[in-house]
Amino acid sequence: HAKNGGKNTFKVYCSTMTTESKHRYSLEKDLRNALQTNQLFIEYQPKVSPETQLLTGGEALLRWKHPKLGRVSPGEFIPLAEESDLICHIGDWVIENVCRQMQKWESEGLPLIPISVNISALHLTKVDLITKVKQALTHYHIPPYLFEIEITETSLIQSSELIFSRLESLKQLGVRISLDDFGVGYSSLTHLLKFKLDALKIDKSLIANLPQKKEDSIIISTLVRMAKGLGISLVAEGVETTAQLEYLKQEECHFVQGYLFSQPVSPLNFSRLVKKGILPVQAH
Ligand code: C2E
Ligand code: MG
Ligand code: MG
Ligand code: MG
Repeated sequence: HAKNGGKNTFKVYCSTMTTESKHRYSLEKDLRNALQTNQLFIEYQPKVSPETQLLTGGEALLRWKHPKLGRVSPGEFIPLAEESDLICHIGDWVIENVCRQMQKWESEGLPLIPISVNISALHLTKVDLITKVKQALTHYHIPPYLFEIEITETSLIQSSELIFSRLESLKQLGVRISLDDFGVGYSSLTHLLKFKLDALKIDKSLIANLPQKKEDSIIISTLVRMAKGLGISLVAEGVETTAQLEYLKQEECHFVQGYLFSQPVSPLNFSRLVKKGILPVQAH
């Protein structure tokens, strides 16, 4: 079938395409256009200290408001973009946008806090990524240690030598690297830890059944100890209940993120949360 390619490939809209592949084809076309026509925007979700409930950082999450379909979830459009170089253009746009936003917040008198962006495996293989990050941080005067890149396990498995050297270059710029969705992949722990990461983000599927599910509770307390020993910080994703929070607090997990505190919100609402500083848990 007609595979999406980079600049030098073309696509054939062929009559044997299934409804599903037609949908994917036109969505990918729309996504290329979305980048040029301001349909993409970013929301920010707070990271919180479980002990103090202080807002300690944020994650930038990409959003797409399609003119006809309304909101399309990143779970749907990111994999589409990852089939070609489109994901690199999108990633560059996110980096630029986030750095510009951080400068804007600072100019409004907000304390600068660490913000993370998600970067796909394909983008990580490109040397242009390093240039982009460096240029954006310099241009918007962002201290590199406040900028964090979230990568997934797949990135560390695929073409590891190349990726490792890119990660090394990013580290030399001073940015932080964290491993997202930790605990759901299949790679070996030793392989993952070959690269000195700054943070591990425990996937929400391992948080969902805390504290009732014995195995998951054991995994979490083991990970906390491991992270402490290695000098890595640990972030729990998808925290939705006070029972989960209590368990993570008791185990001394460093940071939590989830609907219990806040959904991803607009830059304006995020700045309001930063001003407040302390995030009360939502009624659930
Ligand atoms: P992720 O990086 O693991 O981001 C966390 C996801 O969990 C986000 O989904 C967030 O809205 C959701 N979430 C946060 N708290 C809770 C909670 O308490 N419960 C539940 N059930 N979910 C929660 P979202 O925004 O739909 O993004 C999905 C994925 O799309 C992200 O997972 C990330 O892998 C990818 N993504 C999002 N933005 C970007 C981007 O700019 N670039 C790339 N390459 N990928 C992105
Ligand atoms: Mg993430
Ligand atoms: Mg995740
Ligand atoms: Mg994910």
